[in-house]
Amino acid sequence: MSIVPSTRLKVVSVHKLKTMTCYRKYYWRYVLNLESKAMNLNFWYGGVLGAGFEAMLQSQDWKAAMLDEHEKRCAGLSINSDLVAEMQLQYRLIGAILAGAATQSAVKQMTLTESQVPIRMQLQDSDVLYCGTADGIGDWKQIKSLFEIKTASRVNAAYLSALSFDPQIYSYSMTPATRGCFQCAYCIFTKTQRRVKRRQTIDEFVAEITDDIVARPDMYYQWHKVSLGKSTLEANREDVEATTAIMARQFDDLGDRVLDYSKWPKQPDKCFDYAGCEFLPLCKNAATWQHYLRMYRQRTILYEEERAELANDRVAPVSTSIAKKKVNKKAAKVVKKKVKATKSPKS
Ligand code: SF4
Repeated sequence: MSIVPSTRLKVVSVHKLKTMTCYRKYYWRYVLNLESKAMNLNFWYGGVLGAGFEAMLQSQDWKAAMLDEHEKRCAGLSINSDLVAEMQLQYRLIGAILAGAATQSAVKQMTLTESQVPIRMQLQDSDVLYCGTADGIGDWKQIKSLFEIKTASRVNAAYLSALSFDPQIYSYSMTPATRGCFQCAYCIFTKTQRRVKRRQTIDEFVAEITDDIVARPDMYYQWHKVSLGKSTLEANREDVEATTAIMARQFDDLGDRVLDYSKWPKQPDKCFDYAGCEFLPLCKNAATWQHYLRMYRQRTILYEEERAELANDRVAPVSTSIAKKKVNKKAAKVVKKKVKATKSPKS
């Protein structure tokens, strides 16, 4: 397998827009199209929890949805034994949180009619297509609403204020698929900061958290609503257009030098966000970055339009020697086996 870079900007997504806070990260992830072969526990956690919760809101088997998502996210990744134990614990905690959420009246006020809704929008200030996927559309307190799931380490006033600047909101509410939604209902999940105590078994810890969820549900999930008024939408439209136009100019200015890493500056204050940047080894050894490619693979291309862009714009692969490296499928299977053997959370 070879890694094919993107040398033009034809498609943006909310993930690309967010990555523009570090140009070098944008370069590794969206020009060279790399992603780490190591498991990112935060992304895994958000994905498994989100899949289970969406299934729950559609009255589907949420435990099966969690397991499917877990298997999907483990495929082809390296997972060391410490991480296997942590994932096993977190998997049980996600089950306990969802089982607790199912009993809350707020959950019963949300009916999800559609999930994973595709969004497409041609931007005006650049020749770029915006692609996205809304978590869902449904009725919240009988009002047609967009629905988004978030996971956060802490929910405070600053976090809630920033929700109304979420670039997703503009794009999701202006496309035909989601027009008519006048608000966005967010369910924000927070990971517990508690850890297993000395001499406490995993079963005892999960039971402790399960009791705490019942006693203090707000510490684990909260619902918030953002109204999709004209000024909110306009402010977000401006951000999406301007950020994309800046990046489009960067591609135009660089021309043939787009594959030169030194033209994409680093942003060191971002290196340790979200438990550390996956591209640290490449940035630390920028002049010899090709030597570290064995730790990376071609990024998962989410949108058909991006696949088409790559096919039309195919340039020489970055490396052909990283193919056929044995990935740690064994570790993923261990997690799956342990997860299946795990006692089901109370529902
Ligand atoms: S390690 Fe730091 S500078 Fe390098 S890509 Fe990541 S955030 Fe940017």
